Amino acid sequence: MLTIDGARGEGGGQVLRSALALSLATGTSFRVERMRAGRPKPGLMRQHLTALEAAAAIGEADTEGAVIGARELVFRPRRLRPGAYRFAVGTAGSTGLVLQTILLPLLTAPAPSSLTLEGGTHNPHAPPFDFLAGAFLPLLRRMGARVDARLELAGFYPAGGGRMAVEVAPVRALAPLALVARGAPRRRRARALVSRLPRKIGDRELAVVRSRLGWQDDELEVVVLAEGMAGPGNVLLLEIESQHVTEIVTGFGEVGVRAEAVAEAAVQEARRYLAADVPVGPHLADQLLLPLALAGGGVFRTLPLSRHASTNIDVIRAFLPVSVDVARVGDAAVEVTVRA
Ligand code: AMP
Repeated sequence: MLTIDGARGEGGGQVLRSALALSLATGTSFRVERMRAGRPKPGLMRQHLTALEAAAAIGEADTEGAVIGARELVFRPRRLRPGAYRFAVGTAGSTGLVLQTILLPLLTAPAPSSLTLEGGTHNPHAPPFDFLAGAFLPLLRRMGARVDARLELAGFYPAGGGRMAVEVAPVRALAPLALVARGAPRRRRARALVSRLPRKIGDRELAVVRSRLGWQDDELEVVVLAEGMAGPGNVLLLEIESQHVTEIVTGFGEVGVRAEAVAEAAVQEARRYLAADVPVGPHLADQLLLPLALAGGGVFRTLPLSRHASTNIDVIRAFLPVSVDVARVGDAAVEVTVRA
């Protein structure tokens, strides 16, 4: 049984989610010690427990310490059980993080799965639906995966109440991915989603995108979600489509934060990405590491690695016999190479 230090690196839920995904995909049991030890509220939190329960269900796993507040945890998967599942994450929890935990193992399972995930679909500090559907999943499909995600109901932070459906067909082996250049610019689009809030919020966000990024009116759109289709909320999505990759930067509207500040934060993230001239942004970088490791190879260029990414590299090294090398290329970029 592997022992993972839950306080290492990013020291949050990422260690657990990545360990669960790799444990299920490889059939390796593990123990986590010092789970979130450095955090203000240490131990397992509600959102981690949901990911753990989902992982235990699809892997027929035995668990120890699967309770809120637990600092030690044991996870022993028995066998992958693909099928139809519904996981309700609770109001504020992120469906994207549950998907992050179970999607890769289900790709390696012997039969298709059909997932209904209920909860938040656009939460801060988690991959929002549009990023998954527009940036992450297309790359996974390029690696041979057959996976489709559909937003049935938007669930914004903090109310949640959304739903996404995901169809996963197994793949014999994921193919390595090489993504070292963005290629020619293709399209850019800013969409401000507004639900049960004044449309004006979206207009103000797009005004910031127009003035700070110089995007044109026909690249800007306010999307007012139908009443009854979603809880209240707002996100700004900046989609940057290039020849070889699409990146999506998200600004999350929040009570008490001005629309201009929400847009400015997203604009700065987009500018940093555009200036670095790399194909892969920081979020995509940490999320591509596990698929590449499971594929047994791949290479991509990105901005200097986040703590999430380094944490994922540590967890990967514990579970899989692959090497992950990170080499600087230029001032503000690195090249990550995964080899079997
Ligand atoms: P965090 O809550 O910051 O620990 O992040 C958890 C996971 O969510 C990581 O895999 C992040 O890459 C991902 N994530 C956080 N924010 C975003 C975002 N705006 N877009 C895409 N993924 C994100």
